[in-house]
Amino acid sequence: MTKYFFILLIFIPLVCFSFNLYYFPATLHIEDDRLVNFSNQFCIKFNEQIAVLEASSLEEFTELTKLPYSYYAGALIVSKNDYYIVTLPFDVLHKKGIFYSTLVHEIMHYYLESYFDFSEEEQEDIISQFIN
Ligand SMILES: [Zn+2]
Repeated sequence: MTKYFFILLIFIPLVCFSFNLYYFPATLHIEDDRLVNFSNQFCIKFNEQIAVLEASSLEEFTELTKLPYSYYAGALIVSKNDYYIVTLPFDVLHKKGIFYSTLVHEIMHYYLESYFDFSEEEQEDIISQFIN
């Protein structure tokens, strides 16, 4: 009985969440002119490590973000004073051709949210100026 209980305890977390965890820029290297332009304009040095959770499935993305995967490709989650990015599985982003634009978008949100006082809407306006 105890043995089975133990097995359940170690098994359940693996079944529930199996996302891949990366840190930008340490283990997730992204070179993108749009980020360079953004960092120049806002005097940002990308010297922080931002946690990026790559959901293992579309369903897991929605579990992690509470957002519909049909509409969102990525999200910046703010939980207390912790910020982290959640994305759809990378292969899905690559297939849609939005891997870099999704990550760049969320990284910009991270810095705008952390260091400035823009509303959600203002952030979207700023980001779209750099992305498009
Ligand atoms: Zn956004």
